[in-house]
Amino acid sequence: MNAELYPQFQLSTLHSELKDMAIVENIQFIEKEIEGKGVILVAVSKTKPVEMLMEAYNAGFKRFGENYVQELVDKYEQMPKDIEWHFIGHLQSNKVKYLAPFVSLIHSVDSLKLLQEINKQAAKQHRVIDCLLQIYIAEEDTKSGMTEEECLEILKSETLEKLPNIRIVGLMGMTTLTEDEDQIRKEFKKLKDFFQSLTINQPPHSSLTTLSMGMSGDYAIAIEEGSTMIRVGSKIFGGRIYQK
Ligand SMILES: *Cc1c(COP(=O)(O)O)cnc(C)c1O
Repeated sequence: MNAELYPQFQLSTLHSELKDMAIVENIQFIEKEIEGKGVILVAVSKTKPVEMLMEAYNAGFKRFGENYVQELVDKYEQMPKDIEWHFIGHLQSNKVKYLAPFVSLIHSVDSLKLLQEINKQAAKQHRVIDCLLQIYIAEEDTKSGMTEEECLEILKSETLEKLPNIRIVGLMGMTTLTEDEDQIRKEFKKLKDFFQSLTINQPPHSSLTTLSMGMSGDYAIAIEEGSTMIRVGSKIFGGRIYQK
């Protein structure tokens, strides 16, 4: 559908989508499910228009996750300033400067080089930016992240002491795209075990409290396996036309 040729159509689908989507009900439903479990919900709003995010915001929900830097910056500029913005997509070093003034948590740090850049840009903003290290847990090789060994290397690295403007607060992982529940559970369990081994033997200069795992299709399993933060998109905002 070409939006320029069919502006009316676009507008009316948006409105009916909004009405049918029941964004607020979806959030309330999930909040109810996770109540008392020590789990934080991040509403993943990538590809969705500001109007949809504002539905949630106006009902008091203020924590959103985005995958693309430009899209996140655009939404940040258009929306109220008391929103907690999470960056969950692949982050290139040269884009960090755009997020540094306002981002709350970066879920997807996959190298020491990226941490150094986040530290540099955070320092310019006189901020300390919370980061999660993304661990590679899926069997397919399309998912980004680092191995457990690489993660340990970073956590033990002396370089970390020289990065006062970042704080590593936990880990993030994404499972293989599969219907196989056992496979998904196995991957979550593996990440949880690794997370636990780190928190028992807490490395210096870190305070690992957050385990970000679970999306629309698998957050129930993720919570059973110890997730403390779920990233839910389509179950709140509906399916995406463009699978960013
Ligand atoms: C898109 C995305 C999500 C949300 O996916 P849904 O299946 O729509 O809930 C969560 N995490 C990351 C990293 C994503 O890219």
